[in-house]
Amino acid sequence: MSSVSRLFQQFDAVYFDLDGVLYRGLAAVSGAAETVSELVRGGCAVAYVTNNASRTPGEVAAHLDELGIPAEASEVVTSSQVAVQILCEHAPAGSRVFVVGGAGVEQALLDAGFIASRDPRDCVAVVQGFGPLVSWQDLAQASYLIQGGAIWIATNLDSTFPTQIGIAPGNGSFVAAVRNAVGREPDGVGGKPDRSMMDRAMAVVPAKAPLLVGDRYDTDVAAGISVGIPTMLVLSGVSAPADVWASKIRADYLGESVRDLITEYVGPQERSDGYSCGEAKAVYKVAESVVHATGGTRLERLRAADSLKWSLVEQVGVDSFAEGRISLDLGE
Ligand SMILES: [Mg+2]
Repeated sequence: MSSVSRLFQQFDAVYFDLDGVLYRGLAAVSGAAETVSELVRGGCAVAYVTNNASRTPGEVAAHLDELGIPAEASEVVTSSQVAVQILCEHAPAGSRVFVVGGAGVEQALLDAGFIASRDPRDCVAVVQGFGPLVSWQDLAQASYLIQGGAIWIATNLDSTFPTQIGIAPGNGSFVAAVRNAVGREPDGVGGKPDRSMMDRAMAVVPAKAPLLVGDRYDTDVAAGISVGIPTMLVLSGVSAPADVWASKIRADYLGESVRDLITEYVGPQERSDGYSCGEAKAVYKVAESVVHATGGTRLERLRAADSLKWSLVEQVGVDSFAEGRISLDLGE
């Protein structure tokens, strides 16, 4: 091999978010299998850290395997597992728990010694996660239990997630429906950005220099920041360049997809008049309140513009970008 520097070589483990990173719905993101296989061949450990609570770790690993992505159930951390871990602080093992969501929630409860019930009678707690068959009935029964004093743990609060067709409502939208009915917040939330999710990942696949790769700022990048590990935001899922621009938190690396882990890494450079990245250049036009990025690839323009944005934050405040007072022109 040449001496080309590839991003993953700086790390000894990569924790992958799944939806929008390695797959969208049932289909793999282009280059996902090649990328993970290359990492594993290069001696980099991998773990899969998903807020999607609907499936068991075994089912997730089997799906990844079908897509050509090498995965063991033991390398998969789901928000259902973490939600049940939190439930243990509120209710003794053996308690009867009402399940909202798919088999992932049910299995995690059984593994921890709870009685997982689809019948609300005598349940002292509710664990609410996503499942494609979650119905109004489930949400109503959960609401009645919570109003009657049951403990309420949500697996995660992602409001949306990407499928192969488009963006679909996520568990956070269903939790909001129950919140509207019961007038209070859940007693606990398992998924990213909560650090317990990352703590579990780091226990399962320990690393000295890990990287977290995700497609959302509010869950993935925030989770990485909560435990002090570097993050890469990829544009293959729910986030677009406009979300990068508006974000109040910073991802250490940007990629079009996970493939950018194994291709030659081109990083941004500070210049006297702005930032460059490969053939791209970003400059701030103060009079127009706009950052213009030109040349190179879209990713190079975005990396240059993002670095320029964060160099300006101290002077102008992060709200200038979040609220659109300084806009981004990527020349598209
Ligand atoms: Mg995702």
